[in-house]
Amino acid sequence: MTLPSIDTAYLLDFLTGLLNTPSPTGFAHQAVEYTRQALSVFPDLRLSLTRKGALLAVWPGEHNDAPRALTAHLDTLGAIVKEIKSSGRLRLTRLGGLVWANVETEGCTVFTRSGKTFRGSLMTTKASSHVYGKEGLELAREEENMEVRLDARTISEEETRNLGIEVGDYVAFDPRVELTNGFVRSRHLDDKACVACILATVKALHAAGLRPAQTTYMLFSNYEEVGHGAAAGIPPEVVELLTVDMAAVGDGQSSDEYHTTICIKDSGGPYHHGLSQRLRQLAEEQGIPYRADTYPFYASDGEAFWHAGGDVAVALIGPGVDASHNYERTHLDALLATTDWVTAYLIS
Ligand SMILES: [Zn+2]
Repeated sequence: MTLPSIDTAYLLDFLTGLLNTPSPTGFAHQAVEYTRQALSVFPDLRLSLTRKGALLAVWPGEHNDAPRALTAHLDTLGAIVKEIKSSGRLRLTRLGGLVWANVETEGCTVFTRSGKTFRGSLMTTKASSHVYGKEGLELAREEENMEVRLDARTISEEETRNLGIEVGDYVAFDPRVELTNGFVRSRHLDDKACVACILATVKALHAAGLRPAQTTYMLFSNYEEVGHGAAAGIPPEVVELLTVDMAAVGDGQSSDEYHTTICIKDSGGPYHHGLSQRLRQLAEEQGIPYRADTYPFYASDGEAFWHAGGDVAVALIGPGVDASHNYERTHLDALLATTDWVTAYLIS
């Protein structure tokens, strides 16, 4: 069977909008709403929010005797205000596996309780070369040496508090989205790239007048980066869970930015052999450019569901993303291959 064609412009438009919607773990509601609105134009999808705040879409299939699930996560790395310093600057605590050096000098937005936002940037406490010289260069990029310099007139704790900023406010780092020559460069392609691939699948199947072979639950989770995203939200009747999340690119990895990848094993151990074999068979039948790989420092929402007691076959596929949890990059080829693979699975 030929796969329905992908609306590339739709995929990239949705992705750009999603990347530009801040969603640090615990504060992902705007990205959940953005995705809910995009899916609401497909009348056969039943949309709901879980109590935990994730988006669940149910897509009735040709059959319902072996329902399936897809999952991808909407939350990203980020931070929370830990302390308002006597200088008026903010010390942060990180969300998920954020590496301070990877966001040094990045622009950021602070979300206050009242709904106001403030702009700023993440600097070291010894940022000026002319003042600190070598000391600034050698400073460990650790929590106590990093601070938010607010773009607001404050030089004291009191002035910052008077702005309405408090301990516990969420902080999102700028994604800096750029599309050039088929490359997509942005923070948080993990895992917004895969959410966009799933939406492109939904669009492609609808445009072709098709629906999934089995009723399919799509869970867009909101706590993946802290390890328990898809632990809840997948109904017990589901027999298979396809996790769609980025592939890790780097030295010794077979993944790259031009292929989609199936992960055979990560830090949490191996994925389901039978389901992985079926997916590889499908990719080969459809001529989808894919790689098989293992990831050394990685855990997924599929494993979160397994750890929570989910009795399902779990597999993991996704586009190769260079410099993950850093300033990430992938290529449209990997996004299209991932979309084709999800589509081929759903109609199989
Ligand atoms: Zn991820």
